[in-house]
Amino acid sequence: MVVGCSVRPTWPGRKLHTASQTIPKDGIMNANAKPILVIGGGIAGITAAVEAAEVGYRVVLVEKEAYLGGRVMRTYRYFPKMCPPTCGFEINVRRIRQNPRIVIHTLSTVEQISGTAGNFKATIKKRPRYVTGRSSLDDSVTEKLESERPNDFNFGMDTTKALYYPHDMAYPPLHVLDREALSEADEELLKKISPPEALDFGMEEEEIDIAVGAVVVATGWQPYDATKLDHLGFGKCRNVLTNVMMERLAARSGPTGGEIVRPSDGKVAENVAFVQCAGSRDENHLPYCSAVCCMASLKQARYLREKNESAKATVFYIDIRTVGRLEKFYFDMLEDSNISFVKGKVAEISENPETRDLILGVEDTLSGDRLNQTFDMVVLATGIVPNTAEAKLPIELTYDDYGFIDGTTNIDGVYAAGCAKRPCDVSRTTKDSTAAALKAIQCLNRGE
Ligand SMILES: Cc1cc2nc3c(=O)[nH]c(=O)nc-3n(C[C@H](O)[C@H](O)[C@H](O)COP(=O)(O)OP(=O)(O)OC[C@H]3O[C@@H](n4cnc5c(N)ncnc54)[C@H](O)[C@@H]3O)c2cc1C
Repeated sequence: MVVGCSVRPTWPGRKLHTASQTIPKDGIMNANAKPILVIGGGIAGITAAVEAAEVGYRVVLVEKEAYLGGRVMRTYRYFPKMCPPTCGFEINVRRIRQNPRIVIHTLSTVEQISGTAGNFKATIKKRPRYVTGRSSLDDSVTEKLESERPNDFNFGMDTTKALYYPHDMAYPPLHVLDREALSEADEELLKKISPPEALDFGMEEEEIDIAVGAVVVATGWQPYDATKLDHLGFGKCRNVLTNVMMERLAARSGPTGGEIVRPSDGKVAENVAFVQCAGSRDENHLPYCSAVCCMASLKQARYLREKNESAKATVFYIDIRTVGRLEKFYFDMLEDSNISFVKGKVAEISENPETRDLILGVEDTLSGDRLNQTFDMVVLATGIVPNTAEAKLPIELTYDDYGFIDGTTNIDGVYAAGCAKRPCDVSRTTKDSTAAALKAIQCLNRGE
């Protein structure tokens, strides 16, 4: 038996073509096929877009934020390899830039979709950026402004100026102007100091109608609202954070320049508790497992240990779920004597009003002991909620009880990918999105 990819099998009587022979010279695989509409520019949407475009299909990608990359861009590093998210993103940006078949609309949503497989019509609504890209803007302009806005990229842990750059790897690499946050005085100032034609205050919302043949829904997820977990103190105790906030705290581009410090007093966090299943696997909140939170907390405990060798982490868990090859990551963490694991669901978190330290009440289910342990910071492993739980798409789709798009019973020509379908990690998301791209291509070719 021959193993490996150097020897290609041949079918009797059939000549195999290489990819470059098969894709026509103009780069369009099927000139009659309409483009594929991809909704969402996270890792799922980007993957579906580049995979389809690289085999010769046209793609229109619509992203509601001012940047691409979705939630992964807001992590410090991503497991299992612990690379910064910019690594994979740079490669994808190169693939997008090299591919004329991909059209991207950021700050945009899809307002309407009608039609059937092979023949949909969609209306895209594009919010004004007020930044033209015709001349460049930099800090010498933005730092003169007084108007600020909460930095939603950093979960409101810091602020940006009203004219801001979404993040280091923003795509397209342009500033955005938040008109609502801009004072009249700053508007006048900007008119005077910004380079000619850099800003267009008259820019208006646009509606763009397009014809598409298939749709990939890659609208992803948002974190479970931790203020609903009354017993865990989020929003009341300053040093209780969520896992997504911890990602930004550890990131160099985050609110503290990458130092893991307590929000209450800026002291370096020395003794941190990670509370698993904060909302997940709980009938009163999210009855399902969010699939990535155990790995996310293990990864974050590693951030803590790498940044401060005396720091201690304690993980409170129901079960540790690190499937397949990811288990090695967990086993490696067990070797670290500064990381402890306690099996038990945290019942309550309270705060010492003087020190702002946090007291966790929990029953250790292995020993049967009732514990009251003190920590200087707590990270809640809040779960994954599909964006479609609240914001349904303008097309008849089947959703499960939690708002995830049902992958099997949906309408022909519309394919969901990534966390729009279920909680999953990047590796599974990319495989899923490649499959969705293939389904979309098959749909286009059926319409030939
Ligand atoms: C704390 C935490 C840490 C994690 N760390 C890791 C890790 O280290 N490694 C790993 O493999 N996985 C990790 N994950 C999981 C990872 O975040 C997901 O696998 C990934 O985000 C899924 O990508 P996605 O594109 O499906 O969704 P998203 O990343 O949510 O992207 C969806 C995109 O769609 C856009 N969008 C939403 N609605 C619309 C709309 N109506 N119109 C237009 N655009 C829209 C959003 O703005 C967003 O850009 C982590 C998860 C958590 C909770």
